[in-house]
Amino acid sequence: MTVRIVGSKRARMRKVEFTEDARKALRAGVEVFISAGAASKIEQDGLKSFREGKECMGLLYGIPFRQEGKQQVKIEAAVSLPVNSTPHHVSVDRTTDMPEGQDAPPGSIVVGWYHSHTGVGNFMSGTDRNTHGRWFSSPFAVSIVFEAAERSLDAYRMVDGEFVRVRYELYRD
Ligand SMILES: [Zn+2]
Repeated sequence: MTVRIVGSKRARMRKVEFTEDARKALRAGVEVFISAGAASKIEQDGLKSFREGKECMGLLYGIPFRQEGKQQVKIEAAVSLPVNSTPHHVSVDRTTDMPEGQDAPPGSIVVGWYHSHTGVGNFMSGTDRNTHGRWFSSPFAVSIVFEAAERSLDAYRMVDGEFVRVRYELYRD
């Protein structure tokens, strides 16, 4: 899988705007903000795949920023990838064209990835950790796991070499 991180300078110049609720959340230490639209896209993708006995996978687009010394990420869009999948394994289908990111908001960059689980629970498996470490090694990278069987959505990040579940807040686009 080739993931090209593009336009980071442009993205840094773009202003991150938040509502008063989000500012409160920021002060409370929330690290990841997910647009309600992106979250529901991940949910739909995961549930559809679940019905077909598969896992889904995709890229997260958004803007990384720093606030009070903490690395924060605003996730604006989720774009699904063509995959080869069984109930407990998923990999990118290299024979199909990769999405060009045309569904991503202008100025956003790849800030992580998402995939679904089908009943094993919500956690980062060994394969998930490898995938994250190999392709999404930037300090702001987020991995979202949607466990379709229990409809749970969790966000993970690598902090000091360990994967931790991080607090996230949904926002309305
Ligand atoms: Zn997984």
